[in-house]
Amino acid sequence: MPRLLAIVLASLCVLSARAATATNRIDWEKVKPEILERYRALIQLDTTSGHETRAVDYVKKVIEAEGIQTKTFALDPNRANLVARIKGSGSKRPLLIFAHTDVVGVQREKWPVDPFGAVMKEGYIWGRGSKDDKPVLTANLIVFLMLKRLGVQLDRDVIFLAESGEEADTVGVGMNYLVREHMDEIDSEFAITEGGGGTVEGTRVVRVNIGTAEKLPARVRLVATGTAGHGSVPRLDNALIHLGAAVEKVGRWETPMKLNDTTRTYFEKLANISPPEKAARYKALLSGSTAASADQYLRQNEPGLYSMLRTSVVPTMLKAGVGLNVIPSEAEATLDVRAVPGENLDEFFSKMEQVINDPAVKIVPLPRMRPPSPAAGLDNEMYRVLDEVARRIYPGAVVLPSMSTGASDNSQLRAKGIQSYGVGPASTEEDTLHYPAHGDVERLAESSLYPFVQYVWNVVVGVAAHT
Ligand SMILES: [Zn+2]
Repeated sequence: MPRLLAIVLASLCVLSARAATATNRIDWEKVKPEILERYRALIQLDTTSGHETRAVDYVKKVIEAEGIQTKTFALDPNRANLVARIKGSGSKRPLLIFAHTDVVGVQREKWPVDPFGAVMKEGYIWGRGSKDDKPVLTANLIVFLMLKRLGVQLDRDVIFLAESGEEADTVGVGMNYLVREHMDEIDSEFAITEGGGGTVEGTRVVRVNIGTAEKLPARVRLVATGTAGHGSVPRLDNALIHLGAAVEKVGRWETPMKLNDTTRTYFEKLANISPPEKAARYKALLSGSTAASADQYLRQNEPGLYSMLRTSVVPTMLKAGVGLNVIPSEAEATLDVRAVPGENLDEFFSKMEQVINDPAVKIVPLPRMRPPSPAAGLDNEMYRVLDEVARRIYPGAVVLPSMSTGASDNSQLRAKGIQSYGVGPASTEEDTLHYPAHGDVERLAESSLYPFVQYVWNVVVGVAAHT
């Protein structure tokens, strides 16, 4: 072996060993105060849509204090995005760790505490954004700082992104803007962000969902037209009667079941950890002869799972009428259609037209904020690391790939070929029910925050550190 090569190899081994040791040597008890401080500081910034730069200013100061450069990109100065990069050797393509900084609004009178106080009470940290999306923002930030402080040698660049406008990107200031104009800053092989999470039962995390796919919002308006007239004269072409019938038909329409790799694996694994009756039902979904009756059961009893199995149609708004005694010439309804990945929407809407079967009612698609996106893979380095680390950090937990029925900024990246995955901290089902993302009141158990940061750390090191 040439001497120079030998020296290079030897030093690489030392570096790699150093990275591994640095990783193993972390005393997480000592990191906890900083995790909590940064998480609370981020919640204390009111970053409701339109004020995201507050979070960017904070993150910029913290990252630059470590000697890492940052770049901000802003279409609107109040809604900036921030990107920072720690370089790797370049032998593998970059890893993007990202989170949105914006939070949805609050109705203060519904809160028992200040929604931007990050109040600590009963083992929880209370505040808007405490679940969505400041745990991920905090975890990414801490991990990014620690990579630098520990001098971890990387095969991949690790790119940190704090993006604006995820919740209400009506003007496209966040991910849509970045993908359109600054793709070179965030282009990567793999990405992680919100869209997954764990389920706590008792004191243990029993299940970890890794978000690999999501449905596409493809909303439409139903517009019924008829002849306007006097309320004292009944007309068969009354737009309200036609609209009412159409809403009834599409609202009850049983759209066809469509499984994909993610949902098939999800229901298989869910069956393995469910009590016998439920397990039999989840297994029944996977076989052509028994699927229909299991599907019906879900329709009535587990609508979230029913939605995962198909493109769903949900009437959400009605608009019609100008007076008590006036037949309006037009009436409209909004349908929140959520398409499974790969759905042919043109075909779907022509089927919907057949279901409505009324020439007086037209289907008018609304503009879409996000592109259709394929599911991220279940058979690559990133998924294997996400799965393996989840089982290590949460011993005994079952790890499942999951498809979100909601939408996130994973979709813009998946549409660009980036394998983007959803992660998140763990909660009990009860806490998720009563204090959810976007709920009247939001909170996260402090005990869930630290393992989640460790999870992200181990995933990032597992997939990006030099081996
Ligand atoms: Zn979110």
